[in-house]
Amino acid sequence: MSLLTVEHVEAYYGESHILRDLSMEVDEGEICALLGRNGAGKTTTLRSIAGARPPEVQSGSITFRGDDITAEPTEDISIRGIGLVPEERRVFSNLTVEENLHLSEVSRNSSNTVGREVPDLPDVRPLSELYNAFPRLDERQNQKAGTLSGGEQQMLAIARALRQAPDLLMLDEPYEGLAPQIIDDVEDAIARINDEGTTILLVEQNAAAAINIADKCYIIDQGGIVFEGGAEELREDEETRERYLGV
Ligand code: ATP
Repeated sequence: MSLLTVEHVEAYYGESHILRDLSMEVDEGEICALLGRNGAGKTTTLRSIAGARPPEVQSGSITFRGDDITAEPTEDISIRGIGLVPEERRVFSNLTVEENLHLSEVSRNSSNTVGREVPDLPDVRPLSELYNAFPRLDERQNQKAGTLSGGEQQMLAIARALRQAPDLLMLDEPYEGLAPQIIDDVEDAIARINDEGTTILLVEQNAAAAINIADKCYIIDQGGIVFEGGAEELREDEETRERYLGV
């Protein structure tokens, strides 16, 4: 079943037309990868879905669980259950791991201004669950976030977004700047989160790593979708990978 549907979206930064007739679907329970070169429009897509401004979505529609969320403020979209971990890992360096996790306690139920019933949501996800998903953070609960490695900071940024128990977690280039071994750890963590029921929309330039854990892949080029298919299909389609991803 489709959790998120993006249909014919045209998005702009001022006069610059970036997303062109962009359509994609994310199904409940899957890991969907959105791949593309530098500047292709990946971050713009995530920001459009999350209601972050800019860009402006000038036409087309974005629906989540069948509700049109295209013109909604970003706070309301977050309450509906869409979490975004932006490219720049936002952690508070001078606070401990645990303090960072507490700071993300904006409960989806208590701050619900959408006026929609959200009866089955946990208030916030218990820290114990997050520590189970990220054993490295468990070991470093009282360590200042600024002293964590890049991979650990990425895990903390993801754990902070998970604290609000999103149904759809969008990750913007989570592997950027990480050593291959650390990428494996973050990959495992993403796969575990997905196994536990969170749908994932993963944006990456590192196509090989993303294809490893994705169920479905889209490729975006110059603001439009140029490929849609299963991860296996893309792994075998050397021509498409070379043409649009350079790998
Ligand atoms: P990257 O891997 O570099 O983040 P991307 O695929 O995420 O690439 P976007 O960040 O979505 O690409 O950028 C798409 C286009 O929009 C690029 O041409 C970029 O220069 C432009 N762009 C991005 N942000 C802005 C902005 N705030 N104002 C104007 N143009 C922008």
